[in-house]
Amino acid sequence: MTHPAQPKASHFINGAYVEDTSGTAIPVIYAATGEQIARVHAATPEIVEQALASGKAAQQAWAAMTGTERGRVLRRAADIMRDRNHDLSVLETYDTGKPLQETLVADATSGADALEYFGGLAASLSGEHIQLGEDWVYTIREALGLCVGIGAWNYPTQIACWKGAPALACGNTMVFKPSEATPLCALKVAEILHEAGLPAGVFNVVQGLGDVGAALVTDPRVNKVSLTGSASTGKKVYAAAAAGMKHVTMELGGKSPLIIFDDADIDNAVGGAINGNFYSSGQVCSNGTRVFVQKGIKEKFLARLAERVGTAVIGDPLDEATSFGPMVNEAQMNIVLGYIEKGKSEGARLICGGARCDMPGWYLQPTVFADVTDDMTIAREEIFGPVMSVLEFDSEDEVVARANDTEFGLSAGVFTKDFTRAHRVIGQLEAGSCFINSYNDAPVEAPFGGVKASGVGRENSKEALKHFSQVKSVYVRMGDVEAAF
Ligand code: NAD
Repeated sequence: MTHPAQPKASHFINGAYVEDTSGTAIPVIYAATGEQIARVHAATPEIVEQALASGKAAQQAWAAMTGTERGRVLRRAADIMRDRNHDLSVLETYDTGKPLQETLVADATSGADALEYFGGLAASLSGEHIQLGEDWVYTIREALGLCVGIGAWNYPTQIACWKGAPALACGNTMVFKPSEATPLCALKVAEILHEAGLPAGVFNVVQGLGDVGAALVTDPRVNKVSLTGSASTGKKVYAAAAAGMKHVTMELGGKSPLIIFDDADIDNAVGGAINGNFYSSGQVCSNGTRVFVQKGIKEKFLARLAERVGTAVIGDPLDEATSFGPMVNEAQMNIVLGYIEKGKSEGARLICGGARCDMPGWYLQPTVFADVTDDMTIAREEIFGPVMSVLEFDSEDEVVARANDTEFGLSAGVFTKDFTRAHRVIGQLEAGSCFINSYNDAPVEAPFGGVKASGVGRENSKEALKHFSQVKSVYVRMGDVEAAF
C-alpha cells in the first residue's frame, strides 16, 4: 500500500504535478524507523527547462497585478495552511523526523505567518518622489524577475515559504528546489498556493541534488538566487551567481556564541541553551553551540543542564509527548557521531549523552561537553546535531573576543540581568540575529540572516522585500534640454 507521505508526483510545474521517472530516484527514508516511505525522481534537464520556462513566462503578468491582488492570494494560502496544520505537520515529521510536538507549532505555522505577513505587505510596495526644483525624480520598486530558491533539509515547509512569500509579494516568480533529503513539503506549499488562486507558473518545485541546483543557478533567465545551506555550498552558489551578475541571499551555517553571565537567571539560561542546541535535534543553523558560561556559575549551570536534558522524551516523533527526535538521515547521524568522538579524543569532559540511542532510526542522545577550549574541533566547526559545547570565561572583554573568533556570524545570545551590559555586549558581537535573555526566536517580523561566512542578505521582515526587488529611478525634466552643442 502506498504510504500517505508519497506525493502525487515529483515536481510541481506550471500549476500542476509533473512526473518524469527517467530522473534518478530519490528515496524518502523516515528517520524514526529507517524505512522507505516515498520516492521522488530528480529533475531531468527537460524538467528543469519546463520549470524555468514556466516561471519566466508567468512573471510579467504576475508582476502586473496589483500588490493587493497578489497579497490576497498569499493570505488565502496562509489560511489554508493553518486549516491543514495537523496534516502538514505530520508530513513535515515524515519528511524530517522532527517530533510532531515541534512541527505542530514551528513549520506550517511559520510558513503561514510568512505568507500572511508578506501578503499584507505586498500592497505597500512603493517608490518615492524627489523634487528637484521644477524637475523631479520618481522611483519604482520593481520585481527582480525569475528567482531560484534552494533549501536545506531542516525546515522544508518554512524555507519554501520564507523564500516564496517575499519573492511572490514583490511580483517575482520562483523555481524552488528542496533539499534531496526532504523533498515532500515544498510540493504541498506549491499545491496550496495554487489552490489559493496563484496563477500557473508563479511558484514551481523541482527535485534534485546539487547538480539540479547548479543548473538552476547558472541559467541566464534567472535573476536571483536565494540559498539556505552550508557555508561551503554557499561559496559555490554565490560564485556561480556572481558569474551571471545575479542577486543573492545566502542563509548559511554558524557556530554561534551563547554567553551566560554569572548574574543570569540560571533556569532561563539553561532553557535558552536547551532551545539553542537541542530543538530539532540540533539541526538549526542559528544554534548557540558555543555556550560560554562565566566561571562563578559554571558547575551550577552544568548540574541544572544535565538534570533537565535527562528529562528529554526520546521516541516516536508522531507521539506528541516526544520532545526529541532522530537526525534527518543516517549520513548526518554519522557526521555528528564523528564530532562526538573528536570531542572525547580532544579532551572535552562529557557531561551527558555521547552516543547513538539503542533503538531503530537515526537517534542520537542529546550531548553536552564541558571544559571545551576554543581550539577544539567541536568549538570551531558547525556540527548540525545535538552537541553542546560549554566553555568557561572570566571577563566580559575576554568573552566578546572569544565569541567573535570564528569565521561565522549568524546568531549570538546573552543572558544577564544587567541590561546595560547586555546591550553593550550585543553591540560588539559579530552576528546578524541576536537575542537577549532568550534564544532562537524567529518571528517573521524580525530580520533573519548572518554576517561573515554565515551569509549575505536577510530573510523575513521588510528587509526581505528589499532583497527581492530593485529600484528604478526616473528623472523628469519639465523645461528645455540644455546641450553643449
Ligand atoms: P547543503 O549545503 O548540503 O545543501 C543545501 C542545498 O543546496 C540542497 O538543496 C542541495 O541540493 C543544494 N546544493 C548543493 N550543492 C549545490 C550547488 N553546487 N549548486 C546549487 N545547489 C546546490 O546543506 P544541508 O546539509 O542541506 O543543510 C545544512 C546546512 O544548512 C547547515 O550548514 C545549516 O547551518 C544551513 N542552514 C542555514 C539556515 C539559515 O537560514 N542560515 C537554515 C537552515 C540550514
